[in-house]
Amino acid sequence: MSETPHLTFDPDQAGMSKGHLVVPKGADSEPLPLPVLSFNKGEGPRLLITAGCHGNELEGPIVARRILDWLPRLQECGRVILVPVLNPPALKAWSRNSPGDGLNLNRVFPGRGDGSISERIADAVSRVLLPMVDTVFDLHSFGPRWEFAPASTTHPIADADLMSKTLRMSEAFKLPVTLVWEGPDTRGMFDTLAHSQGKIFVCLELGGGAVGTDNLAVAETGIRNALIALGIVRGKAEYPTFRQQKSSRTLKTFSSDQLKSPERGIFEPRCSVFDEVKQGDLIGILHPLDPCSSMPIDIRARTTSIVCGVKSGVPVDVNDELALLARPLHS
Ligand SMILES: [Zn+2]
Repeated sequence: MSETPHLTFDPDQAGMSKGHLVVPKGADSEPLPLPVLSFNKGEGPRLLITAGCHGNELEGPIVARRILDWLPRLQECGRVILVPVLNPPALKAWSRNSPGDGLNLNRVFPGRGDGSISERIADAVSRVLLPMVDTVFDLHSFGPRWEFAPASTTHPIADADLMSKTLRMSEAFKLPVTLVWEGPDTRGMFDTLAHSQGKIFVCLELGGGAVGTDNLAVAETGIRNALIALGIVRGKAEYPTFRQQKSSRTLKTFSSDQLKSPERGIFEPRCSVFDEVKQGDLIGILHPLDPCSSMPIDIRARTTSIVCGVKSGVPVDVNDELALLARPLHS
């Protein structure tokens, strides 16, 4: 007989409380307890902050812990539920996907109670935590293989009113980039589920490459800004400093601008985040694995755009994304 997912504590008690969201056992594992913290100051916005969905994106779990240092002191109203690590097995394996079932947790929402471990985590979050809130911030990063500007992102949403509220919320982080992301396939994403229920959902991509102190500071300031905008904490929002600049731009990606690898090889980046490029500018060079039998391939920008992310010097496969380019949304 399968148990139902549940919290081991009452998140309605005043102040900070903590315990676990129990993901029931299944055919592939014992019950999995996910640590959950609740900060309750009565009436007001109801927010869920999740991190560690992908196990090789550690900015989110680190920033989630840093929030603990000031949230209890600065909270004025409302409720914040914090899940520092959504996918502990993936984090332990330092892997994007869950090691047990090989699934990407952010493609299996709303999950299945009788499914594999990733599906059961998604089911527990969808059934227990999501109904308790109106707004979700999900903390990701581009992982160790990318250079990426810290960004608050959303996919285009069909409901115009929800889209405009979501974009306003995304811009309130004042991160270097606010990105409207034309994703080719959003099925099974946590974002898509929350949006379908009329909730504001912002996906944070808190940089990429090595986890460094600069990006973590940018991320923490951004989250504080968003909590100030919601009225949950007091304080004054400020632009975080990123590469000596205090600025923010709102951009949109177009699938037609994106650059993928034509074959296997080693990608050498020739541009950096925030570079403004014109059609034909060199983005990078793909070096075939066997330099004796084929020539390097120039990877060039398709249109005038801004570099949001570029793959680090790493081996790539056919069709791997090499760069993420975007254009100003309000122009
Ligand atoms: Zn991610």
